[in-house]
Amino acid sequence: MKTEILSGKEGIIKGAAIVRAGGVVAFPTETVYGLAANAYNPDAVRAVFAAKGRPMDNPLIVHLSDKRDIPQVTRGFDRKYEALINAFMPGPLTLVMPRKENIPDEVTAGLNTVGVRVPSNKTASEFIAACGVPIAAPSANLSTRISPTTAMHVYEDMKGRIPLIIDGGECNVGIESTVLDITGDVPVVLRPGAVTAEMIAAVLGADVKSHTGKVLAAAPAPGMKYKHYAPSCECVVAENIASAINCYERQKEEGKDPIILCRREHLPQLIGKRCIDLGEGDAEVCRNVYSALHRGEKIADFIICEDLGASGVAASVMNRVNKAAGGKRV
Ligand code: AMP
Ligand code: MG
Repeated sequence: MKTEILSGKEGIIKGAAIVRAGGVVAFPTETVYGLAANAYNPDAVRAVFAAKGRPMDNPLIVHLSDKRDIPQVTRGFDRKYEALINAFMPGPLTLVMPRKENIPDEVTAGLNTVGVRVPSNKTASEFIAACGVPIAAPSANLSTRISPTTAMHVYEDMKGRIPLIIDGGECNVGIESTVLDITGDVPVVLRPGAVTAEMIAAVLGADVKSHTGKVLAAAPAPGMKYKHYAPSCECVVAENIASAINCYERQKEEGKDPIILCRREHLPQLIGKRCIDLGEGDAEVCRNVYSALHRGEKIADFIICEDLGASGVAASVMNRVNKAAGGKRV
């Protein structure tokens, strides 16, 4: 199969036609690129899992172009959570709610809930509207690979596996959406993201629980059952710049070709060493992190990422980096 890359209206129109005919295409969102299928068509949804090489027991998120469509795929919405929709939708927040029967088991991995998101990316929302149906989509990478934040990242994994990639440039947020379970009395973060627990708690004026321990039958958040975000080379998190330098020099001595990922403010301490600049401030670091991992695994054979912090969006970024490093620290 030939994989085309089209941007703008042309990509949207062709992509929507493919989805309406039961096919799968990649599309940009503000978080990461997604692999889209008609959420009402079980065969199309199966084709998404096939293209990704993903086990069917990991649910997909249902994407809508308009938050007013949420009742079309969910039921029994608890009004106390309405403020979340007003505050964060459209945007990088996925809400897990009880599902309507029109959403097939293939989408939800047989769960009675469905994860719903309304992307704020303009191309995404025009594309979903043009499809005219809710769009089931996971990230547009091969299972266990790093999520794509550019059309070229998608192409590397999906070349020959899907007919079309809609190119919408670089993803603005850069990591996957926050997944929040609102089926219970207390909202539970199943996956951290750019909308943080602190932001949610502030809007609700209520406690937000994080997911603790217990692995469920169908993994409610990625990375709990499967290794996610793994670069093709070794990767570690460095406690601080001194330990990053230490590790860098040790790898050099062993004949490796290491690279350090760090905040811009730390570059002056790393003169003469190979580095990738993650930028300034948490939002920019978040936007750049996957691109840096993609680039790092291409031009080096050992990635050292500095610890970016434990609060706010930096904590969400570190959630991904720690997975890329398989929990290894130096
Ligand atoms: P992806 O962003 O491609 O890794 O896949 C979507 C992710 O959304 C899944 O792996 C789940 O973590 C989450 N998700 C989607 N639907 C549900 C649901 N009904 N319950 C819990 N988590 C969900
Ligand atoms: Mg993913």
